[in-house]
Amino acid sequence: MSLLSNKIHKRELKVGDHIYTYRKFKTYSHHGIYVEENRVIHYTRTESDDEAAASSNDHAGRGCRVCGYRRKAQRGVVKSCLDCFLSGHKLYRFGYGVSSEHFCAKRPGTCSPSPCDHPDNVVRRATEMLDQGNDNKGGKFGEYDFLDHNCESFAVYCKTGQPSSGQALAFKSKTKVFFKNITEKPLTVENLANTAVQAAFSYKINVLQQHAVTIAQQQQRNGAAMSPEEMDIVHDEKESP
Ligand SMILES: [Zn+2]
Repeated sequence: MSLLSNKIHKRELKVGDHIYTYRKFKTYSHHGIYVEENRVIHYTRTESDDEAAASSNDHAGRGCRVCGYRRKAQRGVVKSCLDCFLSGHKLYRFGYGVSSEHFCAKRPGTCSPSPCDHPDNVVRRATEMLDQGNDNKGGKFGEYDFLDHNCESFAVYCKTGQPSSGQALAFKSKTKVFFKNITEKPLTVENLANTAVQAAFSYKINVLQQHAVTIAQQQQRNGAAMSPEEMDIVHDEKESP
């Protein structure tokens, strides 16, 4: 994956890819899983009871001629064609298993140092959530929350089995650092500059620390699970030229 851009062409898409596109002048991104030829499963804002009553007339509207998706009527976990997902914007692919340097260089919500699962498992998870989430309330995946349960956490869940959102974590982390520094330190130009730097990196440092802990735990588990014979094989492999 290029360090400069995650932008890809439609012909580069592979089933099981976590894809995203930017909306509203890159203020936020929308994420989904490419599950089959020209089809994406993605998680959209769920509907409150008030909205359902107010917009009931919109629900009669005709959907996309290619996939049948009705943007105003269908909420929660939905399936649409790629054009409906992109809504006229550019296509990007989320990176998994990237190096710490790569992760630090990229903006939040574009890549993760964590590995991802096999595409078959990714598509299975997305399809399960679609089958159990077409009630406009998010079904089994639950109701939408911009900071804790959004389109990115859905796609990351499908890829890894753990829901998390880089753009939401970064926002929360920045707000926390900013509030702490502004309230606890004198308001000087130097402190403001330090706050900006800390805020930009705090989320990434947290993620990398968490990733290091996860790797250490995995290694510990793998070591503990090995029989003495298996340990010997590992040692032999390490020692062989
Ligand atoms: Zn469509």
